[in-house]
Formats: sequence, C-alpha cells, structure tokens
Amino acid sequence: MLLFDIDGVIRDVAGSYRRALAETVHHFSGWRPDPGLIDGLKAEGHWNNDWEASLELLRRHGHQPLPAFERLVEVFSGFYFGGDPEGDPSQWRGFIGSEPLLVERSFFERLGGAGLAWGFVSGAEPPSARYVLAQRLRLVDPPLIAMGDAPDKPDPTGLLQLARALAACELGPQAPPVAYLGDTVADVLTVVRARQACPHQRFLALAVAPPHLHHDPAARQAYEQRLRAAGADAVLPATTAVVAALERLLPTEPEPLLSAPWPPRP
Ligand SMILES: [Mg+2]
Repeated sequence: MLLFDIDGVIRDVAGSYRRALAETVHHFSGWRPDPGLIDGLKAEGHWNNDWEASLELLRRHGHQPLPAFERLVEVFSGFYFGGDPEGDPSQWRGFIGSEPLLVERSFFERLGGAGLAWGFVSGAEPPSARYVLAQRLRLVDPPLIAMGDAPDKPDPTGLLQLARALAACELGPQAPPVAYLGDTVADVLTVVRARQACPHQRFLALAVAPPHLHHDPAARQAYEQRLRAAGADAVLPATTAVVAALERLLPTEPEPLLSAPWPPRP
C-alpha cells in the first residue's frame, strides 16, 4: 500500500502554508524568514506543525514577548485561509487559493488499477486537507489522517492507524508492504519509528524534495542528502515517479489489495 504526505507531495505549498508561516512571523516581528531558514528548521525533524514552527522562529529571532499561541494561529489562519476554515471554501480569500497540484486525479486511478491501496497521512488542518483531496482532486472519501486525528509526525501513530485500516489485518509479515512518501525529515522519521514499533512489518520510506527546491540544484542536493541521512530508502525525482520506484524496491509483484471500507467500521 502507498500512503502519502500531502504538502510538498500532492500540492506545492511554497506560496500558501510556507508563505503564511513567513508572513505570520513578519506580522509579529517585522522580520520575514527566508525559505532556506524555514527548510533548515524543518530539517531538524520535529517542526512539522507550522504554527509551532512560526513560534519557534520568533523565539530564535529573539522576539519578545512571544504572542499567545491562539493569537498566532488566528493570524496564520487569516493568511492561509483568509476566511472561516470551517466555512464554505468558495469564500476563502487566503493563500490556499494558489496551491499548484503536483499530481492529477488520474494518478490515483492508476494506483487503484495497479491494485495498490492508497491514503494520506498529513499534518495539515482537516479543512485544508479535505479541500485539496475532495475539491481540487475530486477524490471520493479519501482515506485520511489529518491534524488532530493523531499526534504530529514524526510520531508514527497516524501512519500505523491508517496502514492497519487499509490492510484490514494486523500489521506483520502477512500484511502488504507499507510505503510512505513524504517531503521532510519528519516524514522519513515517521517511517523509521513505525518500523521500530512494528518490526515484523515491511515499511518503505520514500521521499521527494518539495517543489520550491527543484529550481535550485545545490539546495535540492543538500536537502535530499538530509532525507537519505534520516533513513529514506529512496529519494524520488517527483511524486509521479512513485510507482516506478516501488517496482524497483519491491521487485515481486505485490498482492493486489483492495481498500477496506473507510472510515473503518467497528
Ligand atoms: Mg509535507
């Protein structure tokens, strides 16, 4: 089965989440962190949550006093959604409106056609994750673990939860291999920790550099090196290369596996 991170893998968030992070820091401090600094923070492996990452950048920049967390979330949300996150997406006026997709709907049809179960494990807020999957990609009831459904990555709880639901059996030698494709060190570490939690289950950590690095070969190479050092089994040139990578890494044809009902029934 193939599980995906969303931001940087399914959609380009350089002009949305990452921009909202920079603008939120600027709003409070008058200082705007550059993309390389945000990448450096993310490379530490535990700043997956962009609200906490914003606060951490303010802290490291020496900004005092730090804003209340709720206030920071409100400002961030204003930049990102520009409207009520729980409301009608057509009313949103924020950066979320400018997120290039990195795959098309037909990509998922091909995965299904190849007998691969697929789903999403993301730290994005549920309305944002649902927006890209259901509205933009028109996927019907996509299996999804989003922010609040499980602890933040690199905690593997969400990944294991979705893998179990899609395998419809206990994880272990009898379950199909679980591949997870993400774009950060935290994503790779999530798989490393899942492996520690379930040593008899086969896991693959696949990684791809986020699109904002694709036009900067030196930065991309350094970033990909950090993904490998964290434990990535393969670094892909693009999300669409994932099926070819799986065929290379799992040379025997994986057992066709149909999706279990989602959400899982008790
Ligand atoms: Mg991501």
